[in-house]
Amino acid sequence: MLTFLLLSLPLLGACDALPGATGPKTAFDGNAAMEYTKAQLAFGPRVPGTLAHVKAGDWITKMMRQRADTVIEQRFTHRTLAGKELPLRNVLARFNPAATQRILYLTHWDTRPMADEDRVLGNRGTPIPGANDGAAGVGLLIALGDALKKTPPGIGVDLLFVDGEDYGTSFVPPYSDVLLGSQYFAANLPSPDYRPIYGVLWDMIADKDLNILQEARSVTSAPEVVSRVWQKAAELGYARYFIPRVGQDVTDDHVPLLAKGLRVIDVIDIDYGPPAPGGGASPSFHHTLEDTIDKISVRSLQIVGDVALALLIDG
Ligand SMILES: [Zn+2]
Repeated sequence: MLTFLLLSLPLLGACDALPGATGPKTAFDGNAAMEYTKAQLAFGPRVPGTLAHVKAGDWITKMMRQRADTVIEQRFTHRTLAGKELPLRNVLARFNPAATQRILYLTHWDTRPMADEDRVLGNRGTPIPGANDGAAGVGLLIALGDALKKTPPGIGVDLLFVDGEDYGTSFVPPYSDVLLGSQYFAANLPSPDYRPIYGVLWDMIADKDLNILQEARSVTSAPEVVSRVWQKAAELGYARYFIPRVGQDVTDDHVPLLAKGLRVIDVIDIDYGPPAPGGGASPSFHHTLEDTIDKISVRSLQIVGDVALALLIDG
């Protein structure tokens, strides 16, 4: 019997080029997440201060009002280092709002105003499309909203869309023109005693070549949350995508929340793009005009969505 199993498994594997990633493992709908991602790209870059940004923000609020029990908009104005007044908003969609045991998921919904990592120098002043960096995280959270509406969770769930993550150029303290929505949320929590049991920031989670390492600051600051998420991924057969190895330290929206004492980690595939043929450094689509829909996949959205939903179902 054992021999039979050993012989048959590789045969199954041969039919399935990506074992462990075929088909949904939960009620999460990766195709729907992709459609929500495309809907945002159709607005154009969601750069604060533009009409596309207003329209996309209205759309996110509308989508979540159709799904969540309560939706709160946090509107605020940020004055940039250059003296520009930016109208910003966070959208907080709450499921089972009376529950004291809560999990917080967040993602940023704005797009970067300049492709400052683009290989073509002439492109560097142009806003990025933000398929993976901005739109995919929102697609993920809206599709999670579908699942939570259909099967209300036993615990409380907060889905938070933060604005102004990617506006400025200085990702060091005091984070003058970046992480704006998460800084505002940390300073204006839904209640003074708001303490989710843990939180996860989902950012750049749809790369076709999905390889999510454990973000270094998350490992240092909230190791028990990292363990819980990577354990769940392994249980679902996704250990080759959620790789149990410490990666880079990424300055992202979890930083202000960690500083506030909330146990929030960053799930991010910062290595955006295919592996280089020779194993050397490959060009990255991060913060370039190449961050487009063809670089991301339903399969990656499904994998990450399965992990995200399974964590909520299990409390
Ligand atoms: Zn970015």
